Amino acid sequence: MTVRTRFAPSPTGFIHLGNIRSALYPWAYARATGGTFILRIEDTDLERSSQAAVDVILEGMLWLGLDPDAGPFYQMQRMDRYKAVLADMQAQGLVYPCYMSVAELDALREKQMAAKEKPRYDGTWRPEPGKTLPLVPEGVRPVLRFKNPQGGVVAWDDKVKGRIEIANDELDDLVIARPDGTPTYNFCVVVDDIDMAITHVIRGDDHVNNTPRQINIFRALGKEIPVYAHLPTVLNEQGEKMSKRNGAKPVTQYRDEGYLPDAMVNYLARLGWSHGDDEIFSRQQFLDWFNLDHLGRSAAQFDEAKLRWVNAQHLKATDDEQLASRVRDVLAKRGQAGDARLPAICGLFKDRCDTLVALADWAGAFYAPVEPSIEERAMHVTDAIRPALEMLSAKLAVCEWTRAAIAAAIKETITFQGIKMPQLAMPVRVLVMGTAQTPSLDAVLALHDRQTVLSRLKTG
Ligand code: GLU
Repeated sequence: MTVRTRFAPSPTGFIHLGNIRSALYPWAYARATGGTFILRIEDTDLERSSQAAVDVILEGMLWLGLDPDAGPFYQMQRMDRYKAVLADMQAQGLVYPCYMSVAELDALREKQMAAKEKPRYDGTWRPEPGKTLPLVPEGVRPVLRFKNPQGGVVAWDDKVKGRIEIANDELDDLVIARPDGTPTYNFCVVVDDIDMAITHVIRGDDHVNNTPRQINIFRALGKEIPVYAHLPTVLNEQGEKMSKRNGAKPVTQYRDEGYLPDAMVNYLARLGWSHGDDEIFSRQQFLDWFNLDHLGRSAAQFDEAKLRWVNAQHLKATDDEQLASRVRDVLAKRGQAGDARLPAICGLFKDRCDTLVALADWAGAFYAPVEPSIEERAMHVTDAIRPALEMLSAKLAVCEWTRAAIAAAIKETITFQGIKMPQLAMPVRVLVMGTAQTPSLDAVLALHDRQTVLSRLKTG
């Protein structure tokens, strides 16, 4: 059997990290097994769906490298297909029209609640042998209800939650088409999963309650059910379900904040799946290790500090040329252009950065003027140190422009002036880099061009 998985987001809000994890696992499972990963946009809620939300889904997946093998397929473009299946089901007697009005349904619900029963449709319009149905009211367009099996249980072995069994008598006859003939959510999902030959449905556990209903529709259509894996919720830092309403950021914002796609994949992978104690791994290792047997059962909690730490580890491990090409993009957005020095700059600063934005901030000091703070200037660039700064400038004006020669010029200056290294290094850093904390001074200066260093030193 070839594995076929799908990600089926509803574009009703900007997709956040909790949602995109439901794309990561089916993608990884398809890649790990040589299967096919399909993207399906569930856009039938016309009022709440938007193109902007679709764009964030597509951009987010592109950024993270979760490339679909097929799709995006849009449910709104498949309406004719759903209607054809509905017509077939009607012809086979698998569905029936129900004329119960909203007012009647409300009254029924109130009666059931008063009797402490679970509110459910009572089967008034369900045809049975020997049963006389009420008279069809005039001018009312019916909904279509699915004839749920009576008696017995619906059961499946969920890859995350284990065996789940629901008594059919708990499920009433689901509305699968509205009075205007448009199909409803659970029905479209099943038709799509059948037509797309999905073998593994990996999705959020907010859909567990839909699964028994969907399984019954699969069976009525004479189809085998897929394997189900229902992923536990992702909680935000406050312990609430992650959602846009309580501040979750769109996935693409993490791109703009300077996270590496591989770090994000690593972090998200660990939010609900594990491989022993491994915390940091590459995309390829993840794909080598991923299976559905090590999915976590309990809700995972998002932790931004941990995400930054994971990103910092990936930054350190990323090759300088590759980092430079990403940092170049960040600089370009700021109207700055990098140059041939950028890989070396990335190599020198990557250890102290946790995002590409922080790395671009450092790189910026090589491509745009710096502005040391008044406090740092006052603290480090004192009258007492000016003679040393002037001596160093004079040496730097004529020495060979290599790290070794620059180191020698610094050394000679502190020896001659009888001062300690930090007394000279701090003011030079403040003037040249805008801050007193930088990597080794000779390495930093060597990456600048001579004129920039001399003119910045002059501002002291
Ligand atoms: N469209 C659903 C959602 O965004 C997912 C449906 C599914 O995966 O079956 O939550």
